[in-house]
Amino acid sequence: MPSSKDRLVVAIDGPAGVGKSTVAQMVAAELGYACIDTGAMYRAITFKALEKKVSAEDDAAVASLAREAHVEQEYNPTSQVKLRTFLDGREVTREIRSRRVSSYVSRVSAIPALRVEMVKLQRRFLGGGGIVIEGRDMGTVVAPDADVKVFLAASVTERTRRRHGDLVEAGYNIPLETLRNEITRRDHADSTRTESPLAMARDAVLIDTTTMSAQQVAAEIIKLCRKKGRGRKPASRRL
Ligand code: C5P
Repeated sequence: MPSSKDRLVVAIDGPAGVGKSTVAQMVAAELGYACIDTGAMYRAITFKALEKKVSAEDDAAVASLAREAHVEQEYNPTSQVKLRTFLDGREVTREIRSRRVSSYVSRVSAIPALRVEMVKLQRRFLGGGGIVIEGRDMGTVVAPDADVKVFLAASVTERTRRRHGDLVEAGYNIPLETLRNEITRRDHADSTRTESPLAMARDAVLIDTTTMSAQQVAAEIIKLCRKKGRGRKPASRRL
Protein backbone atom coordinates (compact mmCIF):
# COMPACT_ATOMS: atom_id res chain seq x y z
CA MET A 1 0.00 0.00 0.00
CA PRO A 2 1.47 3.38 -0.87
CA SER A 3 1.71 5.87 1.93
CA SER A 4 -1.44 7.89 2.40
CA LYS A 5 0.62 10.98 3.17
CA ASP A 6 1.14 13.59 0.50
CA ARG A 7 4.49 14.53 1.89
CA LEU A 8 6.94 11.74 2.53
CA VAL A 9 9.59 11.13 5.14
CA VAL A 10 12.78 10.21 3.28
CA ALA A 11 15.53 8.65 5.44
CA ILE A 12 19.09 8.49 4.11
CA ASP A 13 21.87 6.69 5.99
CA GLY A 14 25.45 5.82 5.22
CA PRO A 15 29.08 6.13 6.35
CA ALA A 16 31.30 9.22 6.47
CA GLY A 17 32.00 10.97 3.20
CA VAL A 18 29.49 9.01 1.14
CA GLY A 19 27.73 12.20 0.04
CA LYS A 20 24.55 11.93 2.12
CA SER A 21 24.32 15.64 2.74
CA THR A 22 24.79 16.68 -0.90
CA VAL A 23 22.30 14.11 -2.13
CA ALA A 24 19.77 14.82 0.64
CA GLN A 25 19.80 18.51 -0.28
CA MET A 26 19.29 17.73 -3.98
CA VAL A 27 16.33 15.47 -3.20
CA ALA A 28 14.83 18.03 -0.82
CA ALA A 29 15.21 20.81 -3.42
CA GLU A 30 13.53 18.73 -6.12
CA LEU A 31 10.61 17.70 -3.93
CA GLY A 32 10.23 21.03 -2.15
CA TYR A 33 10.95 19.37 1.21
CA ALA A 34 12.81 20.39 4.37
CA CYS A 35 16.25 18.87 4.91
CA ILE A 36 18.01 17.85 8.12
CA ASP A 37 21.67 16.81 8.50
CA THR A 38 21.80 14.98 11.84
CA GLY A 39 25.61 14.64 11.66
CA ALA A 40 25.76 18.44 11.86
CA MET A 41 23.70 18.26 15.06
CA TYR A 42 26.17 15.86 16.69
CA ARG A 43 28.97 18.07 15.44
CA ALA A 44 27.34 21.16 17.00
CA ILE A 45 27.18 19.46 20.41
CA THR A 46 30.80 18.32 20.03
CA PHE A 47 31.77 21.90 19.17
CA LYS A 48 29.99 23.15 22.27
CA ALA A 49 31.68 20.54 24.47
CA LEU A 50 35.10 21.54 23.14
CA GLU A 51 34.37 25.22 23.57
CA LYS A 52 33.15 24.74 27.16
CA LYS A 53 36.07 22.38 27.85
CA VAL A 54 33.69 19.57 28.81
CA SER A 55 35.53 16.26 28.46
CA ALA A 56 34.19 13.85 25.83
CA GLU A 57 34.74 11.18 28.50
CA ASP A 58 32.26 12.83 30.87
CA ASP A 59 29.00 11.33 29.59
CA ALA A 60 26.73 13.07 32.11
CA ALA A 61 28.22 16.51 31.48
CA VAL A 62 27.96 16.12 27.68
CA ALA A 63 24.34 14.96 27.95
CA SER A 64 23.42 17.89 30.17
CA LEU A 65 25.15 20.27 27.76
CA ALA A 66 23.02 18.79 24.96
CA ARG A 67 19.83 19.28 26.97
CA GLU A 68 20.66 22.98 27.36
CA ALA A 69 21.86 23.46 23.76
CA HIS A 70 19.63 24.98 21.14
CA VAL A 71 20.54 23.41 17.78
CA GLU A 72 18.74 24.63 14.67
CA GLN A 73 19.11 24.06 10.95
CA GLU A 74 18.00 26.21 8.09
CA TYR A 75 17.72 24.83 4.58
CA ASN A 76 17.43 27.22 1.67
CA PRO A 77 17.93 25.57 -1.73
CA THR A 78 18.43 28.89 -3.45
CA SER A 79 21.25 30.26 -1.28
CA GLN A 80 24.94 29.51 -1.83
CA VAL A 81 25.37 27.76 1.53
CA LYS A 82 22.14 25.78 1.43
CA LEU A 83 22.16 24.10 4.83
CA ARG A 84 23.17 26.18 7.81
CA THR A 85 23.56 25.05 11.41
CA PHE A 86 23.03 27.30 14.41
CA LEU A 87 24.04 26.65 18.00
CA ASP A 88 22.39 28.78 20.68
CA GLY A 89 21.52 31.33 18.01
CA ARG A 90 25.04 31.55 16.55
CA GLU A 91 25.87 30.20 13.13
CA VAL A 92 28.44 27.37 13.35
CA THR A 93 28.13 25.91 9.82
CA ARG A 94 31.84 26.22 9.11
CA GLU A 95 33.20 25.69 12.64
CA ILE A 96 31.61 22.26 13.00
CA ARG A 97 33.61 20.95 10.00
CA SER A 98 36.97 21.57 11.71
CA ARG A 99 39.38 18.67 12.20
CA ARG A 100 39.14 19.05 15.94
CA VAL A 101 35.37 18.52 15.86
CA SER A 102 35.74 15.67 13.34
CA SER A 103 38.19 13.87 15.57
CA TYR A 104 35.96 14.09 18.69
CA VAL A 105 32.49 13.67 17.22
CA SER A 106 32.37 9.86 17.13
CA ARG A 107 33.28 9.66 20.81
CA VAL A 108 30.68 12.26 21.76
CA SER A 109 27.95 10.78 19.56
CA ALA A 110 28.39 7.37 21.19
CA ILE A 111 27.13 8.67 24.56
CA PRO A 112 23.73 6.98 25.08
CA ALA A 113 22.17 9.84 27.10
CA LEU A 114 23.17 12.31 24.39
CA ARG A 115 21.62 10.14 21.69
CA VAL A 116 18.34 10.01 23.62
CA GLU A 117 18.21 13.83 23.52
CA MET A 118 19.15 14.05 19.84
CA VAL A 119 16.73 11.34 18.70
CA LYS A 120 13.91 13.12 20.58
CA LEU A 121 14.75 16.36 18.80
CA GLN A 122 15.12 14.72 15.39
CA ARG A 123 11.77 12.92 15.67
CA ARG A 124 10.08 16.26 16.22
CA PHE A 125 11.10 17.26 12.68
CA LEU A 126 9.28 14.30 11.16
CA GLY A 127 5.73 15.29 12.06
CA GLY A 128 3.75 16.14 8.94
CA GLY A 129 6.35 14.63 6.58
CA GLY A 130 7.83 16.56 3.66
CA ILE A 131 11.34 16.01 4.95
CA VAL A 132 14.63 14.43 3.93
CA ILE A 133 16.64 13.46 7.00
CA GLU A 134 20.12 11.99 6.80
CA GLY A 135 22.55 10.40 9.23
CA ARG A 136 23.60 7.01 10.57
CA ASP A 137 20.48 5.71 12.33
CA MET A 138 17.58 7.33 10.48
CA GLY A 139 16.10 4.15 8.99
CA THR A 140 16.78 2.05 12.08
CA VAL A 141 16.05 4.29 15.08
CA VAL A 142 14.93 7.85 14.35
CA ALA A 143 12.46 7.19 11.52
CA PRO A 144 11.79 3.44 11.35
CA ASP A 145 8.45 4.17 9.64
CA ALA A 146 9.96 6.43 6.95
CA ASP A 147 8.24 6.15 3.56
CA VAL A 148 11.52 5.85 1.67
CA LYS A 149 14.68 4.44 3.26
CA VAL A 150 18.00 4.48 1.50
CA PHE A 151 21.45 3.34 2.57
CA LEU A 152 24.31 4.84 0.57
CA ALA A 153 27.62 3.04 0.22
CA ALA A 154 30.91 3.80 -1.58
CA SER A 155 34.53 2.63 -1.39
CA VAL A 156 36.77 4.29 1.21
CA THR A 157 38.96 5.72 -1.57
CA GLU A 158 36.00 7.37 -3.25
CA ARG A 159 34.59 8.67 0.07
CA THR A 160 37.97 10.15 0.95
CA ARG A 161 38.05 11.91 -2.42
CA ARG A 162 34.54 13.32 -1.93
CA ARG A 163 35.18 14.51 1.62
CA HIS A 164 38.44 16.11 0.47
CA GLY A 165 36.55 18.01 -2.23
CA ASP A 166 33.93 19.24 0.28
CA LEU A 167 36.62 20.39 2.71
CA VAL A 168 38.64 22.20 0.06
CA GLU A 169 35.47 24.01 -0.92
CA ALA A 170 34.94 24.96 2.73
CA GLY A 171 38.50 26.28 2.96
CA TYR A 172 40.22 23.31 4.68
CA ASN A 173 43.12 21.60 2.92
CA ILE A 174 43.78 18.28 4.65
CA PRO A 175 46.10 15.63 3.13
CA LEU A 176 44.19 12.73 1.56
CA GLU A 177 45.98 10.13 3.68
CA THR A 178 45.04 11.91 6.92
CA LEU A 179 41.43 12.10 5.79
CA ARG A 180 41.36 8.46 4.79
CA ASN A 181 42.60 7.46 8.25
CA GLU A 182 40.02 9.67 9.92
CA ILE A 183 37.20 8.24 7.81
CA THR A 184 38.28 4.66 8.51
CA ARG A 185 38.52 5.37 12.22
CA ARG A 186 35.07 7.02 12.27
CA ASP A 187 33.54 4.16 10.25
CA HIS A 188 34.83 1.72 12.84
CA ALA A 189 33.69 3.77 15.84
CA ASP A 190 30.25 4.50 14.34
CA SER A 191 29.58 0.89 13.34
CA THR A 192 30.74 -0.77 16.55
CA ARG A 193 29.20 1.47 19.24
CA THR A 194 26.48 -0.13 21.36
CA GLU A 195 23.87 2.61 21.05
CA SER A 196 22.24 2.81 17.56
CA PRO A 197 25.31 2.03 15.48
CA LEU A 198 25.59 2.84 11.79
CA ALA A 199 23.53 0.06 10.18
CA MET A 200 21.35 -0.51 7.19
CA ALA A 201 17.67 -0.99 8.00
CA ARG A 202 16.33 -4.32 6.75
CA ASP A 203 13.83 -2.54 4.51
CA ALA A 204 16.26 0.09 3.17
CA VAL A 205 17.33 0.23 -0.48
CA LEU A 206 21.11 -0.09 -0.82
CA ILE A 207 22.72 2.18 -3.42
CA ASP A 208 26.42 1.69 -4.13
CA THR A 209 27.36 5.17 -5.24
CA THR A 210 31.07 4.53 -5.94
CA THR A 211 30.78 5.18 -9.67
CA MET A 212 27.74 7.46 -9.56
CA SER A 213 27.50 11.23 -9.54
CA ALA A 214 25.51 12.97 -6.80
CA GLN A 215 22.91 13.87 -9.45
CA GLN A 216 22.51 10.22 -10.41
CA VAL A 217 22.10 9.15 -6.78
CA ALA A 218 19.55 11.90 -6.14
CA ALA A 219 17.65 10.86 -9.28
CA GLU A 220 17.47 7.25 -8.00
CA ILE A 221 16.06 8.39 -4.68
CA ILE A 222 13.55 10.71 -6.35
CA LYS A 223 12.46 7.75 -8.48
CA LEU A 224 11.82 5.76 -5.29
CA CYS A 225 9.75 8.65 -3.94
CA ARG A 226 7.72 8.88 -7.14
CA LYS A 227 7.10 5.14 -6.99
CA LYS A 228 5.31 5.79 -3.74
CA GLY A 229 3.04 7.88 -5.93
CA ARG A 230 3.80 10.92 -3.84
CA GLY A 231 6.68 13.30 -3.28
CA ARG A 232 5.75 15.54 -6.17
CA LYS A 233 6.60 19.18 -5.98
CA PRO A 234 3.66 20.87 -4.27
CA ALA A 235 1.66 23.03 -6.67
CA SER A 236 2.43 26.70 -6.14
CA ARG A 237 0.02 28.36 -3.78
CA ARG A 238 -0.59 31.97 -3.01
CA LEU A 239 -1.27 32.42 0.70
O1 C5P B 1 27.56 12.96 8.80
P1 C5P B 1 28.83 13.43 9.51
O2 C5P B 1 30.05 12.74 9.01
O3 C5P B 1 28.97 14.90 9.54
O4 C5P B 1 28.60 12.96 11.02
C1 C5P B 1 29.54 13.24 12.02
C2 C5P B 1 29.48 12.16 13.09
O5 C5P B 1 28.25 12.29 13.82
C3 C5P B 1 29.52 10.72 12.63
O6 C5P B 1 30.84 10.25 12.42
C4 C5P B 1 28.85 9.99 13.79
O7 C5P B 1 29.77 9.76 14.82
C5 C5P B 1 27.84 11.01 14.28
N1 C5P B 1 26.48 10.74 13.84
C6 C5P B 1 25.73 9.84 14.53
N2 C5P B 1 24.43 9.63 14.22
C7 C5P B 1 23.87 10.30 13.21
C8 C5P B 1 24.61 11.23 12.44
C9 C5P B 1 25.94 11.40 12.77
O8 C5P B 1 26.23 9.22 15.46
N3 C5P B 1 22.58 10.11 12.95
